Amino acid sequence: MIVAPFEAIVDVFIGLFGLALGSFLNVVIARIPVGGSLVHPPSACPGCSAPLTWYDNIPVLSFVALRGHCRACGMHISWRYPIVEVGTAAVLVLAWVAFGPSAEFLVACVLLPALVAMTAIDLQHQMIPDAITLPGIPVGLVINVATGRISWLDSVIGILAGGGLFLLIILASRGGMGGGDMKLGALLGAFLGWKALLFALFVAIVLGGAVGAVLLATGRRGRKDPIPFGPFLAAGGAMALFWGEQAFAWWMGGFGG
Ligand SMILES: [Zn+2]
Repeated sequence: MIVAPFEAIVDVFIGLFGLALGSFLNVVIARIPVGGSLVHPPSACPGCSAPLTWYDNIPVLSFVALRGHCRACGMHISWRYPIVEVGTAAVLVLAWVAFGPSAEFLVACVLLPALVAMTAIDLQHQMIPDAITLPGIPVGLVINVATGRISWLDSVIGILAGGGLFLLIILASRGGMGGGDMKLGALLGAFLGWKALLFALFVAIVLGGAVGAVLLATGRRGRKDPIPFGPFLAAGGAMALFWGEQAFAWWMGGFGG
């Protein structure tokens, strides 16, 4: 057997790539919402501004070695850093195992890290940055046209459906949803096409409703407190990338005859 060890090496390589990409996403998450540059200045402790050495900047390992504290001032480092790194690695390895070398995997490598970043930013800042969603919409369309994974029309209808639906919700609810949700809806439509988009929205609404009900019931959120919807859209979008087309076909089969 030559194949199995080779496949294990590829899995490990993709996992390491995911950790490194997650480390970069942590820079994106920290700097995009405040309008900072992604390359300058170099990483430093937000508490004491001590510059991070290369060995303080190794994904996950540095966090474990430093027990989650800055080497210089001892300030607690957010759990967000290792969670984003491990999460990015996990979704990329899952996508590789599910799709192998394919257009789906290429889409996964672009879409899933973007969803990880937007989830973390929305949880922390209650906003979804235009800097990710606006370029992401044409990128999704172009990847689909270039690879032929889904038709350009499928992708364009997805953009209009995803954006349009949230526009209606925004107009009807007068502030219940934000423009960021609308642009993320359009982005998901661009990458997934309208069929898988419908599954993504379905998952997002069910998940959001369930989590919202639990937060209300346990008193962790009041009726008036906003709960960011971006993380649920991101989760729905990720699940739709894996299962959206099948779910749509199953729906049509079940309801259509
Ligand atoms: Zn420090």
